[in-house]
Amino acid sequence: MPDFNDIATRERNYLLNTYARYPLVIARGKGVHVFDIEGRRYLDFVGGLGVNALGHAHPRIVRVIREQAAKVIHISNLYYNEYQGLLAEKLCTLSGLDRAFFSNSGTEAIEGALKLVRAAGHATGGADKCVVVALENSFHGRTMGALALTGQAKYRKDFDPMLEGVRFVPRNDVEALRAAVDDSVCAIILEPIQGEGGIQASGQEFLAACRELADRHQAALIFDEIQCGLGRTGHAWAYQASGVVPDALTTAKALGGGLPIGALITGERLADVLQPGDHGSTFPGGPVVAAAALAVLDVLLDPALHERIQDLGARLLAELAELPRVTAARGVGLMLAVELETGDAPDVVRRALLEHRLVLNATGPTTIRLLPPLIVTDEELAEALRRLRAALESESQV
Ligand SMILES: *Cc1c(COP(=O)(O)O)cnc(C)c1O
Repeated sequence: MPDFNDIATRERNYLLNTYARYPLVIARGKGVHVFDIEGRRYLDFVGGLGVNALGHAHPRIVRVIREQAAKVIHISNLYYNEYQGLLAEKLCTLSGLDRAFFSNSGTEAIEGALKLVRAAGHATGGADKCVVVALENSFHGRTMGALALTGQAKYRKDFDPMLEGVRFVPRNDVEALRAAVDDSVCAIILEPIQGEGGIQASGQEFLAACRELADRHQAALIFDEIQCGLGRTGHAWAYQASGVVPDALTTAKALGGGLPIGALITGERLADVLQPGDHGSTFPGGPVVAAAALAVLDVLLDPALHERIQDLGARLLAELAELPRVTAARGVGLMLAVELETGDAPDVVRRALLEHRLVLNATGPTTIRLLPPLIVTDEELAEALRRLRAALESESQV
């Protein structure tokens, strides 16, 4: 049997020290559960950071990946494959937008968006129309472009100078937004519900103001739905609850059923800005991941599932608010967070994992985030609540 210390020591010796890992080696998963190398079973309420919306080892996704991998895995974007167009069509239909560009990750979908809106700005207003307005406390990824749009010091420190031409405004501050958006702005980008920022939603009024100002100044409104999209909130896209429609949106996390894929989806106004040679990448939208994503969407876009997610989410939110030491619970659907009265959320998360076998995530000292698979059952939800309560009530043993 593989030995935990062996595995951990080797990583400590040979990996760049970029990840603070929990002392757990996951060997396999099934549905809402993961199993460590010694066979212990954990209830997974992080789902690979919102990726495993269908849980682990979903039979249909496994079958599609297996069958396609045996035919052809990679061909590059010099040629057509059978699935990329179908996937783009499905995403466009789902969003009412017109064209898709595929990437390997969320951050790369954001990079694509950034290049697109810069090019669109240049086309309509010249080289000075290049400013992007983003939100404080946002998260758009770790590459230099996406990082420049990420309004959290903890991700940016040590990496200056940042890409120029980004203005930050506080979420839901319409006044600050008005002051920031002028004719030099080519885009406003925001997560309708901030994920890494601790499950913080933009209000309808703020989103409507973004739309109005983007229109007035010929800027693109981009919604980053990488975490909150694809059914997570009980809607195909989180923004649909607001009635405000973007010019482009980004998606990723849940899309590939665990395989890496992201997409930038744009409306008509932005659809013809980029021409062959302007942007591209070696891997994206390949036959395996595109076939898997088509199957994922088939399962995730069931209206009955969305209704259930809304219902489950409302119930879970009410129950979370009643837990000991919790001062507030927030979120929509199965994208939820609790706020603790003390700054020991990381300790509670560690205890929940190692002593109560419940996988959770802390987005900050007082905030615990829950992103369970969307296929979670009532019994699994009740069990997770019992374990979270136990973790909140107990003292750390480790
Ligand atoms: C995770 C995330 C990203 C970055 O995606 P990666 O696949 O990690 O590069 C960007 N935006 C949001 C809203 C995210 O949640």
